[in-house]
Amino acid sequence: MKRRTFLKDLGLAGIALMVPDKMLGIVLPKPGITENEIEAMDWNITQFKPNYKEKVVYEGPDVIIRQIDEHTWEGNGHLMANESIYLIEGEKESILIDAGTHIPGLRKIVEGITSKPVTLIATHVHPDHTGDAINDWESIWINAADEVNTPMFMKGYPGEKKYLTDGQVFDLGGRKIESIFTPGHTPGSVTFLDRDKHYGFSGDAFGSGNLLITTNLTTQITTCEKMSYFMEKYGIKYMYPGHYMGSNLETPQRVKDIGELCLELRAGTKKGQPQEGGMLKNVLSERGVRLNYNDEGVR
Ligand SMILES: [Zn+2]
Repeated sequence: MKRRTFLKDLGLAGIALMVPDKMLGIVLPKPGITENEIEAMDWNITQFKPNYKEKVVYEGPDVIIRQIDEHTWEGNGHLMANESIYLIEGEKESILIDAGTHIPGLRKIVEGITSKPVTLIATHVHPDHTGDAINDWESIWINAADEVNTPMFMKGYPGEKKYLTDGQVFDLGGRKIESIFTPGHTPGSVTFLDRDKHYGFSGDAFGSGNLLITTNLTTQITTCEKMSYFMEKYGIKYMYPGHYMGSNLETPQRVKDIGELCLELRAGTKKGQPQEGGMLKNVLSERGVRLNYNDEGVR
């Protein structure tokens, strides 16, 4: 399904507008745009300039799944800027991190890749991560702090919502995945770390190159300091982001840069530029980082 049709059907066109007009070369519409103008836009995936090296193991109309390593896979939808899902397999169990925007039959698709029972976990509650495929599961793990977003973005979820705790470990059998609360993008954003493999899965917590801070800068600063600590302690080399395009992994340097730039914005030694449209009114582009925030978020 074409992105524009899908968003219009769901009345979600406005949500996509939260993404600033230019993200890694993607052109998105501005608020106030007419339905005709949305229709006229080319939402073709070729605009996204993806650059994946991982081998494709599944290709359907709504998701393409690639293999990261023997027991780890990444899937991309294409309705909201290559939104990512991650399938992580242990000896006894698997987890799926996020469910994309609209991937019909997602549970069947991932169960075709792993034979282990699949538990669903969300990095945060946004429509491109907790889309309607969550309904395939009887339960979903979320951070309770993102309940602020559930009336809008998990509307009518028939299953059980389970609440993650900070530091909670999912033991998959021979593989452990640890939840670290990393608020900033949303109040309940969570990052998941695989200590033994030295990588993680960070959702939108560090932005995939374009960070939307919907809370405030002090929250983001605390998150960056906390994650810098864990990355160093566990030797985490990179984190797979919520909109993986093949070359935009979150690194220790990226996390440090975001924290430092937020500190400078707070101190007034750096100033962002006002930007038209979207719900976040300012942007600072520096060191390959784009930070989007509101004036209220600075105080
Ligand atoms: Zn998000």
